[in-house]
Amino acid sequence: MSSIVLLGSTGSIGVNTLLIAKRYNIAVEALVAGNNIDLLNAQIKEYHPEAVAIANEADRHKVNHPNVLCGTEGILSVIEASKSQTIVNALVGYAGLAPTLKATALGKRVALANKESLVVAGEFIDMSLITPIDSEHFGLWYLMNDRPISKLYITASGGAFRDWELEKMKDATFSDALKHPNWSMGNKITIDSATMTNKLFELLEAKWLFDTSSIDAVIEKKSIIHALVEFKDGSTTAHFAGVDMKLPIAFALRGEVTEEILPPTDLLGIGALEFLPIEAERYPIWNIKEHILDNPHLGVVVNAANEVAIAAFQKEQCSFFGMSDMVLAAYEKFGDVKAANIDEIIEIDKEVRHYVGSR
Ligand code: NDP
Repeated sequence: MSSIVLLGSTGSIGVNTLLIAKRYNIAVEALVAGNNIDLLNAQIKEYHPEAVAIANEADRHKVNHPNVLCGTEGILSVIEASKSQTIVNALVGYAGLAPTLKATALGKRVALANKESLVVAGEFIDMSLITPIDSEHFGLWYLMNDRPISKLYITASGGAFRDWELEKMKDATFSDALKHPNWSMGNKITIDSATMTNKLFELLEAKWLFDTSSIDAVIEKKSIIHALVEFKDGSTTAHFAGVDMKLPIAFALRGEVTEEILPPTDLLGIGALEFLPIEAERYPIWNIKEHILDNPHLGVVVNAANEVAIAAFQKEQCSFFGMSDMVLAAYEKFGDVKAANIDEIIEIDKEVRHYVGSR
């Protein structure tokens, strides 16, 4: 690949993507960022993009580039005008959906970290153009071969509160929830890890990517094993790799990788490994796992409610478990919706946000 457009360049995935682009001499045709203009300016200086887009018009004068577009329309225009065949979508949340749809409508390949795109609208996205940037899905892809598969498994770390007393979790704060035991990631996915919503989203992501509902998740506290594939013959293989997104990013950008991206797993250093169930008492979102895998079109409801709930938790308007209460209430209220197209997805997203926000 000769060039990419990078959406979300100032985030955790974005910064790692630039390191991989640099290593393999992949040109960065355009950069898209939100509010971190200082880092964006440093990236412009180093990577010389032809175009830049940012979230807010008010910041335009701070950006050291002659070609700056703003807002969602700006991001979509950058994608439309680009020559690159690959768009790396590392935006966070619902804001990533419209760019995924725009890129795929133009026939471009999307290296997709923005799992919310698939959670919200997987049914309407051309999966043949999607390469996931997610360690679990990368692990599954890596393990798959021609043998008949019976079940896919992904692992969860358990998030910030996996070892807390349940009683104490009731008073957990936003900053407590940001203390992820294994991964350094953006705020939203770190909160989603603490509630296990991230794993629910990854099951939906896997459902769309691999076209199967025969998928489950277990806790593996060391985050050394990311995925397992169980074959019909009764054997199971596991994918071990370091806690670093550069590996899935390198594969998403290169297709194949033959050089060392991460140091190999230190088997003796790992010591004992254990797998634990994900319990709904600690992670109430897990109550809807089976139902949503059978009804993946309800991902739009969970995502919208979850984004409103996280914002409320951050503003101390609800407790940690209050977030799950909000999401589960919306799931019940909107259980009958089923979008027939993207316009209806957008409408449902709005309605759910309004409902959850006004309760
Ligand atoms: P971050 O919060 O670190 O980064 C998000 C990026 O999106 C930032 O560059 C941010 O800009 C930008 N952004 C947010 N809103 C807008 C907007 N409206 N317009 C333009 N830019 C915007 O998130 P992560 O990198 O952690 O995660 C990104 C996605 O990747 C998420 O969907 C996450 O679930 C997924 N993912 C992340 C993993 C990880 O290890 N971090 C692993 C697997 C998947 P700014 O910071 O300048 O405001």
